[in-house]
Amino acid sequence: MTDFMTPKQRSQAMSKVRGYNTKPEKLIRSYLHRQGFRFRINNQSLPGKPDIVLKKYKAIIFVHGCFWHHHKGCKKSNLPDTRNEFWRNKIAGTVMRDQRNISDLMKQGWRIAIVWECGTKKKDDLENIIKKLSKWIIEGQSKRIELSGTAEGCP
Ligand SMILES: [Zn+2]
Repeated sequence: MTDFMTPKQRSQAMSKVRGYNTKPEKLIRSYLHRQGFRFRINNQSLPGKPDIVLKKYKAIIFVHGCFWHHHKGCKKSNLPDTRNEFWRNKIAGTVMRDQRNISDLMKQGWRIAIVWECGTKKKDDLENIIKKLSKWIIEGQSKRIELSGTAEGCP
């Protein structure tokens, strides 16, 4: 990532994309909703405050930003050259928290799907992800899946 912003600008820009109701989450929600799924969002009482909770199916969906949650092998997870150490530590903390939350949720019997943000940028990718996601929600073959895009730079 080219660092063309000052640290302050960068952190402002990042905080904008960090919070709830970021665009990729909204996209996934509206697709699922259109397919007839009903769910709770940003459940505060569960570890990691999951983005989408489908209680009926004992399924949880996290929509993860590739940078913040370090999508391994994805171009969008590259750390900035400036203050590299700072970002490395920060992201490592997030990754550790994610792992802990997911393992706690799985111990409580939840199934987990992680949708990587890079998979939500192109319509084809997104539709493909939704197809796999709905199948997973209903059929529940695996306890944990990860879905990402085929877009350039993504694994
Ligand atoms: Zn990615």
